[in-house]
Amino acid sequence: RFITIEGGEGAGKTTLIQALAHTLTASGHRVMTTREPGGIPIAEQIRSIILDRSNTMMDARTEALLYAAARRQHLTEKVSPALEQGYIVICDRFIDSSLAYQGHARGLGIEEIRSINRFAIGTMMPDLTIYMDITPEQGLERIRQGAGREVNRLDLEGLSFHRRVREGYLLLRDQEPERIIPINAHQEPDKVLQAALSVIHERFGW
Ligand code: C5P
Ligand code: MG
Repeated sequence: RFITIEGGEGAGKTTLIQALAHTLTASGHRVMTTREPGGIPIAEQIRSIILDRSNTMMDARTEALLYAAARRQHLTEKVSPALEQGYIVICDRFIDSSLAYQGHARGLGIEEIRSINRFAIGTMMPDLTIYMDITPEQGLERIRQGAGREVNRLDLEGLSFHRRVREGYLLLRDQEPERIIPINAHQEPDKVLQAALSVIHERFGW
């Protein structure tokens, strides 16, 4: 099974994924966690080009193509083989990030981004996507408080960009309500974990 975790900045994706992996592993499942863009050396190299703060000339379509390239390599080299070996793969971001960020927020068009991703990944889609919904104000505040990580090129985007990202995710949820299940990411980490586990239980019976 292929599960992806989506959400804006500071939603707590990384924290949730660690907790999910821990819980599911403890109950006897074989779990592999990974992230996008990255997860393997070639894709991590692409990630560092995208996120480099000195790359101020990065064109929006170039950026979208780089994400798609990283996604393809990560899928063929790591995700697909793990799925074939029977792992539950939990991935931090996947195609919906591109659709929400580059398609909607950057204005390249959700369908345009879908089409370059179709070239990159074919028909491969997650079995379940958990969307961690948080207001950009709160998400960015968490990052400012240093809860997460280093500041990157995309963090220099303004609040209105991050509002459009959220709007994009909500549009995608409306398009595919079966696959994309939102959870309230304002809650305490343990509540968020319980919410995610109950979505997974309903979907797969684990
Ligand atoms: O998931 P993570 O926070 O590590 O992502 C790194 C950065 O890449 C974030 O700042 C995110 O906004 C950005 N990103 C993006 N478009 C994507 C995926 C990630 O702008 N499709
Ligand atoms: Mg993260």
